[in-house]
Amino acid sequence: MSLLMKGLSFCPTPQGDYFELEKDLNLFCRKILLKKYFKKDKLREPDIVDKDKEILGVLESLLDESDLDQKFQKANRSGLKKKSDFTPGYGISNYVSVFRDMASDALLKLNHKRQSDNLSKAERQALKELKSWEDVQIKPSDKGGNVVIWDNDMYILEAKRQLHSDTYKRLYGNPTEGFVAIHNNLINDAFRDLLISEQEKSFLLVDNPRVATFYLLPKIHKNKVKPPGRPIVSGNGNLTENTSKYVDCLLRKYVTALPSFVRDTMEVLARLNGTHVMKGTYLVTLDVEALYTSIRHKDGIEAVKYFLDIDPSINPDLGHFIIKMLSFILHHNYFVFNNVFYLQIQGTAMGTSCAPTYANLFLGKWEQDVVFGDDLSFFTNYIPLWIRYIDDILFLWEGPLNLLNDFITILNTNSLNIRLTQNISQNMVSFLDLTIGIDEKSNITTDLYRKETATNTILHFESYHKNTVKRSVPTGEFLRLRRNCTSFETFRLRSEQLKTRLKDRGYSNKILKQAYHRALTTNRDNLLKTKPVKTHDDQQLRFITTYGPQTYKVQQVIQELWPVIHQDADLRSILPETISFCYRRCQNLGDHLTRSHFTGRKRQPPVKGTFRCGSCVSCSMVKNQDSFTDRFGNLQHVNDYINCKTSNVIYCIECPCDRKYVGMTTQRLNKRIQKHVSTINMAKEDRQKNKILSTVASHFLTYHNGNPEKLQFWGIEHVSLGIRGGNISEFLLKRESKWIYTLNTLAPTGLNEKIDFSTFLR
Ligand SMILES: [Zn+2]
Ligand SMILES: [Zn+2]
Repeated sequence: MSLLMKGLSFCPTPQGDYFELEKDLNLFCRKILLKKYFKKDKLREPDIVDKDKEILGVLESLLDESDLDQKFQKANRSGLKKKSDFTPGYGISNYVSVFRDMASDALLKLNHKRQSDNLSKAERQALKELKSWEDVQIKPSDKGGNVVIWDNDMYILEAKRQLHSDTYKRLYGNPTEGFVAIHNNLINDAFRDLLISEQEKSFLLVDNPRVATFYLLPKIHKNKVKPPGRPIVSGNGNLTENTSKYVDCLLRKYVTALPSFVRDTMEVLARLNGTHVMKGTYLVTLDVEALYTSIRHKDGIEAVKYFLDIDPSINPDLGHFIIKMLSFILHHNYFVFNNVFYLQIQGTAMGTSCAPTYANLFLGKWEQDVVFGDDLSFFTNYIPLWIRYIDDILFLWEGPLNLLNDFITILNTNSLNIRLTQNISQNMVSFLDLTIGIDEKSNITTDLYRKETATNTILHFESYHKNTVKRSVPTGEFLRLRRNCTSFETFRLRSEQLKTRLKDRGYSNKILKQAYHRALTTNRDNLLKTKPVKTHDDQQLRFITTYGPQTYKVQQVIQELWPVIHQDADLRSILPETISFCYRRCQNLGDHLTRSHFTGRKRQPPVKGTFRCGSCVSCSMVKNQDSFTDRFGNLQHVNDYINCKTSNVIYCIECPCDRKYVGMTTQRLNKRIQKHVSTINMAKEDRQKNKILSTVASHFLTYHNGNPEKLQFWGIEHVSLGIRGGNISEFLLKRESKWIYTLNTLAPTGLNEKIDFSTFLR
């Protein structure tokens, strides 16, 4: 339990991963190659129109040429585009290739074993055990940052209680194929009608989407023993993911233009700062109950339509298309839970990125037509300030209480399904993470608001993060207090409470003192000003890798070899002197322990390894083994049952002199093997015809007389995406890269020609 007390944000000391580093190195080299590639292009002044469109995408992201925009982005309003995975060949700079090989060798010499550990032996063991528990779900609580261990039976019961309601419909089968067809037809039509650009089209078209998954977060503040769950749909890579981003992108500007709109706490403070109110003013908060589920599609769509209609920059056809796509998103929100498919038939599609914008516009229209419409102006004359953050409203009332109550009653009587919960006070109300009050001089005051159930969610100081990151935690917290508290006394009081929480999380007195002092001496007015967003500096070159015990050694390796790159005259002139290093956070306890997709108990295959099917020509070539040794001398185990007829497999071919080739196939394994056999059989003829031979065929021709009989194969891994589906080829390619590296089968040691790291860009 001491483990979970550290919080799910806690990162245990990670172990380095050679393959991850190799991948990061190659993706870094790709950036250098791209710079050179486009530098060359610029010199040659190519006719861009003839260029591959994919390359164009990269070009645009690297160069900011406005004439390009005009040529190609006529219909492109969203600016959204598919990520490019274009990688120039290493042939364009020998120095980059040398740099990569030298760095790769040096990185292999690092020792990734954990030297010290921020978990005790018992905690390590506990982590291992928790990970292996299959009868429970480990979830962060809905509010307050607790960790809850939820028994599977109870979890399923609660999920079923929610799913078997009017909000969802059970589907008897996977609807993906049909839905994709409808979706892509809409996109292709829009492209044909010139409503979207080529770029947007390729961004929006879907193939092999993943089915979204449904899960619950326990609301332990409602019931500790039998917590109800907050339903969440997680739709990474799902059918409408990009369409929803597109719709959101085009509609968001109407949200930020709403008079009531506040982006965050900071904007609330900026709006309230220095506000002086009349004596007897009431502070009122309204909460729209279950906003997302209560918006009826026709009401929501009508609101969005209104904002599109009054925008002269949107032509009616495009407006119509946006509505069509929004409607598609609302009506095709399906997901899987415990191997059953469900379709959401009521309320705003959960988990979709345009949901907040949609709900905001729905309420924005209501504010405009009803709240501040002519009929209620008698009441709204008493309101000097009205702000809203999605479903939370704050306003000031400078009138009699009975009229205020009448006003709220009228608002609650509506045909839009809007139900409001109010909180009225002349002293203080809470809004977002603020407590808002009125002092004796009739000034608005603010203070930090913490829910009573809130636990300590501050990042633990022992967590495996860069020191600068951890040191910035107290500073950020104290500055937030300074910003949120109008009076100095409340700031002092909250600071004392914060100090206790920080100390509990392992922060030293010295760090706390510095952070507190920093907040103390900062002018509060400066904290209320929006800082300009740092723009991405294109000139910088970043080496991005995961933060781990070997991070500084990696940095050293790259920096020491950097002069190699500078020998390339072209690159020297365009690359910066130094590289900056950026770090991804390593896995935290949440990543280790929580899963959104519910799977229940996994079934283990009765036997593991590769077996003959007993009825094909490849049977005789099967090498049955359930374990093998990798390039580091570690014993690896095959965890699947594989035979000649298994598809979606990563396999290994061995020749009589023990050279290996790692490959992948979505077809049956024996089909793929026979293809290898036939290229070997054809090798002699092909060479005479001057055809380029594969490394496997060429090796067999040269060393084994072109005879494939002694070829052996075995399966390394059988890949399955499970019920959620997705793009299996891409997943196989990633696994293949990993195994080519781990088994060291790249030529000249083995028979693989290259590792394609560009799959990791998709
Ligand atoms: Zn067979
Ligand atoms: Zn051989």
